[in-house]
Formats: sequence, C-alpha cells, structure tokens
Amino acid sequence: MMVPAPLRLRLDGAALIENWRTLARMSGSAACGAAVKADGYGLGAHGVAQRLAAAGCRDFFVATWAEAEALADLKLPVSVLHGVRAEDMEVVRSGMARPVLNTPLQIQRWRDSGGGPCDVMVDTGMNRLGVSPAQVEQGLLDGLTIETLISHLACAEDDTSMNAAQRKRFAALTGRTGARRMSLCNSAGIALGTEYHFDLTRPGLSLYGGSLVPVLAGSIRQVVFPQTQILQRRRVPAGETVGYNATWTAPADTEVAVCNLGYADGYFRGFSGTGAGLHDGRSLPVLGRVSMDLIALNVEVAPDLAEGDWIDIAFTLPQAAQTSGMSQYELLTGLGSRFSRVWTD
Ligand SMILES: *Cc1c(COP(=O)(O)O)cnc(C)c1O
Repeated sequence: MMVPAPLRLRLDGAALIENWRTLARMSGSAACGAAVKADGYGLGAHGVAQRLAAAGCRDFFVATWAEAEALADLKLPVSVLHGVRAEDMEVVRSGMARPVLNTPLQIQRWRDSGGGPCDVMVDTGMNRLGVSPAQVEQGLLDGLTIETLISHLACAEDDTSMNAAQRKRFAALTGRTGARRMSLCNSAGIALGTEYHFDLTRPGLSLYGGSLVPVLAGSIRQVVFPQTQILQRRRVPAGETVGYNATWTAPADTEVAVCNLGYADGYFRGFSGTGAGLHDGRSLPVLGRVSMDLIALNVEVAPDLAEGDWIDIAFTLPQAAQTSGMSQYELLTGLGSRFSRVWTD
C-alpha cells in the first residue's frame, strides 16, 4: 500500500516546456537539447524527458549509463556525458545511448569494441572532462563517426574573457573532425549570443527554473513548487524557544505550524531563520533552525491554517539560493526522495 507522503513537489509541466521553448528560441538556428542528468536535476528524469520529447526536444544528456537505462523505455536519443568505463561496455554495446568520449583510453575502448556513432568532449579550458584541442589536431579522433563534438564553458554566467577564449579554441576545430554537429552552450551560455550557439545547445538549470544571468531571470518560469503538510499547530508563549539549539525566542505569544520538511528533503540548514512558507500571498517565516525532518513556520497571519493543511514553500531558485547560501544546482539536485512528485500540466 502506498501511504501518501506528507510532502510533495508540484512540478509545473507547462512551465518546463515553456522554458525549453524560450531557450530554443534564444538558441536561434541551433537545435536545443536538454541536460537531464542527476535525475533531471532532482525533478525526475523520466517525467522531464517525456514532456520535453513531446514538445520536440531531440537531444538528451545524462551523466552515467544507469541514468541512460532509466530512460531506455522512452527510446530517445540520449548521450552519456561521462563516457565509457571498462565496466560500462556491456550496456554500452546494447546501443541504448551514445557515449560522449572524454579520454584517449575511452576512444580506444570505443574503437576496439567496434565503434559507431559517438560524441566527443573537447576541453577548451575548464580542465574538467575532455581531450585537448592539440590531441584533436594530432589526429586522435580521425576515423571516428562523430555525431556531436562538444565542449563546455567554465563560467558562462560570468562577464569574463574566458568565454571568448573558449569559444575561439572550439571554433578552431570546425571542420577538423568530421563531426556532424558542434555544441558549446549550457543554459547561461545561450545568453552569450549567436556566435556561441554552433549547432546544438544543452541547457539544464534554466529548464528547471534556475537562472544565473539577468536576461534569463526575466523569462524563465519557476517549475518546482515544494509543499509540506502541517503536523501540529501550537501557540508558543512569549519567552519560549523553538527548534534545535533554541535559536529563536518568541518575543510575544506566537502561532506556529510545525511542518514535514528537513535536511533529507534538501531543505538545508541555510534556510534556518531565512526560508518561508507562502499562504494567500503572505510570507510565513521559518522560525529557528531546520530541526532535522521538521520546520516551524510563523502562522500569525494565517488563522485559517490547521493541522493537516498544506503549505507552499518559497522556492524561486535565484532567491532561494541567496536565502540559503546554496547554489541553484545544489538546491535542485538536493530535493530528496521523500517528496511525492506531482506533475501538473
Ligand atoms: C550539466 C551540463 C550541461 C547543462 O548545464 P546547465 O548549467 O545546467 O545549463 C550542459 N553540458 C554539459 C557537458 C553538462 O555537464
């Protein structure tokens, strides 16, 4: 029997699709894919990929082969960013997804196992994954059937000369590899302009409501709406404290709702005394510490809220990141497994 969870994520499918369309429009003549690694940044990769595929998205990116397997029944074009380890080869050769080859050893492994269409990551300055432009020039990729040549921007959201430098190193490889397409941009990279777009863009964060640059903040919609159920409503007398370590003392008698949300759900310590619930357009501040699996909200302004009622938690990503001191990536991917995930389309 499935007991309904006392906390849920309302996932706005229409907003997800609108964000993808916005990013696709901003990508100009380049196709727009979707990074759905880390279980669709915490939303649930299957539900995300299914909706974006229906909207017309044709390129999906995951980190690992286990993540590719989780999408296999959708029969979508999926690329696996972390490439092929020795222990991946059995599932790799099943052909369920395309590897993104990152190292000379991965390339050799792919050739030895029979090759076929693949993607390749070139490192243009981030020093994360990828072969070097020099290795490409020396012929490391010659003879491979490359669908997409990929590189990744280290600081797309920052106003830095590094973006142009990376773009230049990448553009210099045009025509060198026989790759059918080239792809450089993540979400923030799309906002850098046409010369960065090449043939395919790969947004992740902004599909899910995140934005790290003003131009996106104005057009990207919130997708993830955490909601929690009230377990107890109580009146805290003036002078008494609330929560772990007694960090909040009631200045006057205060109405408090204790709700089901905490660290294991991705509602981290940084929301202590800074986060809020929302009710009828009014803010319900978090009082004191997030206390393991529970938070206390000030419900003085909401006499109608009672035990068993549901409360929205403020989770506009740019603001929630500022409030909590976490990054938007951490906030999304931290959303735990105890939420029931409910798509509203
Ligand atoms: C995660 C990732 C993306 C998406 O980046 P966002 O900043 O979330 O838009 C694109 N490309 C690669 C290679 C990635 O690892």
